[in-house]
Amino acid sequence: MVQINSNYLKLKAGYLFPEIARRVKAFSDDHPGIDLIRLGIGDVTEPLPRACCEAMKAAIDAMGTSEGFHGYGPEQGYSWLREAIAKQDFQNRGCKVSAEEIFISDGSKCDSSNILDILGEGNRIAVTDPVYPVYVDSNVMAGRTGNAAENGCYESLTYLPINATNNFEAQLPKEAADLIYLCFPNNPTGAVASKSQLERWVKYAREHNALILFDAAYEAFIQDPHLPHSIYEIEGARECAIEFRSFSKNAGFTGTRCAFTVVPKGLTGKAADGKQVELWQLWNRRQSTKFNGVNYVVQRGAEAVYSPEGQAQTKALVSFYMENAAIIRSELMTAGFTVYGGEHAPYVWIKTPEGLDSWGFFDHLLEQAFVVGTPGSGFGAAGEGYFRLSAFNSRVNVQSAMTRITSL
Ligand SMILES: *Cc1c(COP(=O)(O)O)cnc(C)c1O
Repeated sequence: MVQINSNYLKLKAGYLFPEIARRVKAFSDDHPGIDLIRLGIGDVTEPLPRACCEAMKAAIDAMGTSEGFHGYGPEQGYSWLREAIAKQDFQNRGCKVSAEEIFISDGSKCDSSNILDILGEGNRIAVTDPVYPVYVDSNVMAGRTGNAAENGCYESLTYLPINATNNFEAQLPKEAADLIYLCFPNNPTGAVASKSQLERWVKYAREHNALILFDAAYEAFIQDPHLPHSIYEIEGARECAIEFRSFSKNAGFTGTRCAFTVVPKGLTGKAADGKQVELWQLWNRRQSTKFNGVNYVVQRGAEAVYSPEGQAQTKALVSFYMENAAIIRSELMTAGFTVYGGEHAPYVWIKTPEGLDSWGFFDHLLEQAFVVGTPGSGFGAAGEGYFRLSAFNSRVNVQSAMTRITSL
C-alpha cells in the first residue's frame, strides 16, 4: 500500500484564507447585493507595465519564427536577464553579486520552500511571529517541525515575536538557530529593517554559522533612500545569506510568474561528515534536476523591467500602491486607529480597537463596513490583536473602503 507524507497531516488545515472565504460567503449569502471591498489578499490589481507587455509580445512573435525560436533554456535563466539583475539590482547599489549567482525562477514562494531540499534535517529553525505562512508550512511538509500545539505554534520551531512593544524588530534567538527566515519590507506587518538591524542579524548568523533566508519581495516599496534593499548591502552577508526576490509585486507579475534567488558563491554549509559544501553547487544541481527554467517570453518581459521605460513604469506602479497605503494610514489615524507599516510596504498593520480580537474586528468590518481584511492572528499567535489591510486595490475602492470604515 502506498504511503503518504504524513507531515502534511500536521498542517493546521489552511485555517486563514479558507476561513476568510467561508465568513465572506456566509455574509454575502445572507446579504445579497451588498458590494464588498476586498483589502485582504496580497495580490496586485493594476495591469502589467507597458514595457513588459511589449517585450513579451515581441518574444512571442520571435518564437513563431525559425530564427527566433527558443526551446529549453538554461535552468538557471538566460544570461541577459541574470546580468541585468546583477548590475541594476545589486552592483549599482554596491553589492558584490554576479550574474552567475542569480537563479531565475517562477516564484519566490516556490524558491523559499524548495530551498529546504538542499538543507539538512537537523537545522534549528527560527521564524518571526507573525510570519508569511509559507516559511512555516514548507518546514512542516518537509518534516522539519513537530506537531502543532493548541495555539497553532509548531513544536521545535523557534518563534520570534514581533509587535508594537519591540517596534516589530525581532530579538535575536536565545537558543541558537541554524536557519533564520527574515522578510523585509515585512509581510504582514509592513515593517522595514534599518541597516543596523540587518547588521545585527548578519553578525549573529556569522557567529553561529547560521544561514539567513532573506525575502526581499517588497524591496521596491522602500521609500527612504537610506534603507537597505538587499541583505548584501551588509558587510559579510555573502557568507551567511540567501536572498529571494520577485517580479510579482514591483512589476505586477503575480499571474505572469518570474522571480529569482541569489546564492552567493563561497557560501557554505556543513555536510554529515563535517565537510564544508558550497550551497551554490547544491542549488544549481537541484534546479538543473527538478526545474526547467522560466519560459523565454516571460524572461523577456522581466528583462524589460530594467529598461528605462520599464524602470519608470514599475516606479509609477509602486507609487500608485504607496499612495493607497498613505491614504489608508492617514484616514485610519485621523479616525483614531493605531496603525503601523504602510510607509515602505504595501501593507498597513492595524491595532484592533479595544475589546475586539483579530477575528472580532474582521467580523465587525465585514458586517458594518462591508470591507474584507486579514486577521493578524492568521499569521501567527503573536499577530492576535492586529489586522492587515492591503494597499493593492483601485484608488476608488481604497477611498470608499476608508469612508466606510471611518464613518462607522
Ligand atoms: C508575494 C510574496 C512573495 C512573492 O511570491 P511569488 O511566488 O514570487 O509570487 C514572496 N514573499 C512574500 C512574503 C510575499 O508576500
